[in-house]
Amino acid sequence: MKVSKDSVVSLEYRLHLGDGKVVDESEPGHPLSYLHGRGQIVPGLEGQLEGMGSGESKKVVVAPSQGYGEHDPRGLQTVPRDMFPPNAQLQPGMTISAQTEGGDVIPITIRELKGDQVVVDLNHPLAGKTLHFDVTVREVRQATSEELEHGHAHGPGGAH
Ligand SMILES: [Zn+2]
Repeated sequence: MKVSKDSVVSLEYRLHLGDGKVVDESEPGHPLSYLHGRGQIVPGLEGQLEGMGSGESKKVVVAPSQGYGEHDPRGLQTVPRDMFPPNAQLQPGMTISAQTEGGDVIPITIRELKGDQVVVDLNHPLAGKTLHFDVTVREVRQATSEELEHGHAHGPGGAH
C-alpha cells in the first residue's frame, strides 16, 4: 500500500541543513514509526511522503514555513544568569532543556553571555532553517483501530 491518511509509516531519515552535515537521523535498524496525516512530523515532509511505497527513497527539501517555522525575533530574551544552576557551564550556541510553568520541557539556545545577563533564544533550534531530508520508507501498513483511537502508531506487539 501507499502512504496515505491514517496509514502507519516506518521511515528511515537523515536530516541536514544544506551542507551535508547530519543534525538528526533515525537510529540504524530502528525506523521512526508515525501515524500519517495527523501532523506528527513537520508538514513539508509529511506532504511529500504522501503516495510513497515501501522501499522507496526520496530527497525532500522543506522551507522553514513548512518545517519548524520562521525565526521569531521575539523569541530572543535576556534573563538573569542566576536563573541557571550556578555550576552550569553556559556557552553561546549550546542548547539546554528548560521547563515551562506549564510543565512542558522545551529546548532553549544560549545566544550570548553579557555579565550577569544571558541572552536566550526560545525559538525551536531548527526554526528559520531549510530542512534537507533523505528518507526511505521501510513499511506502510493500515493503522489498527486502537492506533486510530489513540492517535499515534504503536510498536511491534502493541507497545507504546
Ligand atoms: Zn496508544
